[in-house]
Amino acid sequence: MFVDVAKIKIKAGDGGNGAVSFHREKYVAAGGPDGGDGGKGGNVIFQADDNLSTLMDFRYKRKYVAQNGEPGRASKCSGKNAPDLIIRVPRGTLVKDAESGLVMADISGDEPVVVAKGGRGGWGNTHFATPTRQIPRFAKPGLPGEEFEIRLELKLIADVGLIGFPNVGKSTLISVLSAAKPKIANYHFTTLSPVLGVVKVGPEASFVAADIPGLIEGASEGIGLGHDFLRHVERCRLLLHVVDVSGCEGRDPIEDFEKINTELQNFSQQLATRPQIVLGNKCDVATPEQIEQFRQYIEGKGLVFHAISAATRQGLDHLPGEVYQKLQELPPIVTYEPEYVRPEKPSDTGRSYIITRADDAAWVIEAPWLERILMGSDMDDYESLQYFQRQLGESGILDELVSRGVQENDTIRIGDFEFDYVF
Ligand code: GDP
Ligand code: MG
Repeated sequence: MFVDVAKIKIKAGDGGNGAVSFHREKYVAAGGPDGGDGGKGGNVIFQADDNLSTLMDFRYKRKYVAQNGEPGRASKCSGKNAPDLIIRVPRGTLVKDAESGLVMADISGDEPVVVAKGGRGGWGNTHFATPTRQIPRFAKPGLPGEEFEIRLELKLIADVGLIGFPNVGKSTLISVLSAAKPKIANYHFTTLSPVLGVVKVGPEASFVAADIPGLIEGASEGIGLGHDFLRHVERCRLLLHVVDVSGCEGRDPIEDFEKINTELQNFSQQLATRPQIVLGNKCDVATPEQIEQFRQYIEGKGLVFHAISAATRQGLDHLPGEVYQKLQELPPIVTYEPEYVRPEKPSDTGRSYIITRADDAAWVIEAPWLERILMGSDMDDYESLQYFQRQLGESGILDELVSRGVQENDTIRIGDFEFDYVF
């Protein structure tokens, strides 16, 4: 529901398969193997882009797939490597593993970050042209590209959060202070997600303020939308507490102020201790007595108070500078994010397998790597068969079959392939 969170799928390109091919010459019956290598699959790369400020686009397009590498061709022609797929995100976006929620990448710097690696291209049969294997008829398939389901999150929403009851003028204030254009209306709950505004203080100085929709009573107990909103406030370093000092909606400013603070307290002790600047808004329609009474109450608590009018811009000239100055004095909020550890991926040499027995007594070997070798092999070819047999031996599959009592002529099943076992 928030624009700053998105769940997408990314997939890097698969490596192209190596080619099986033979060099032919006139007067030469069979030339040497000359199948080229497959090209590398494209990576999925994330890059910070300062022209973006939300993750909105990712709500509409959810799957991002890089191209596969080209297969190898005859005459030792390698397949082309596929181009990388670059995904642009706002600076400060965290790429998280959707399932564990752990951070895979932090897109805060200028350097592009590879999140899903493209698969390596397979070897063509030229690689197997050794003296002992003169006419190899197999090639290696390309490796699959990495695939992840990820959650994108904008790391820091705002330095400053505007809090206060609905209709006190938060949206109006942020639209006046920044270039953000939130909905402003004379009814409650106009804003359903936080609106961010960049407040310029000088040519180089600015801060981000968030208009956080009205807190409602009971929000800290998770009632309604308030609870989610409070989480956003939690990341702000400074709070601007906006109060309608005119009481034009029949509210009492002191009561409002205390209620909002009780909400904060109930939600998080830490949040409640965050510094506040109190803004008495709608001064244009308030009496001097109303303003004075509220000022004394707030200053009596040792807090900074400003009488303002977002509508007429009264009292706002020095506010951005003061907020900026205060932010300079405050320490950054450190949020701890546990580190993501890449799951062990089946490597080139990882030759794991599972052996089970089917209902018809066949021995079933589950080993995707072995299936790939089989698919790239020509079983009528002696050399190919030898290579395959060696894989069976080196991986320990044969030993396990024997120790589990395999008999001559038993059926061995590997994917779609079936063999008879012969000693
Ligand atoms: P929010 O719910 O806190 O975001 O409040 P809005 O910014 O949407 O404002 C609610 C209503 O109060 C709108 O009709 C605004 O025009 C009005 N309003 C906001 N600021 C002022 C102000 O300084 N003076 C007066 N008179 N009205 C204001
Ligand atoms: Mg609003």
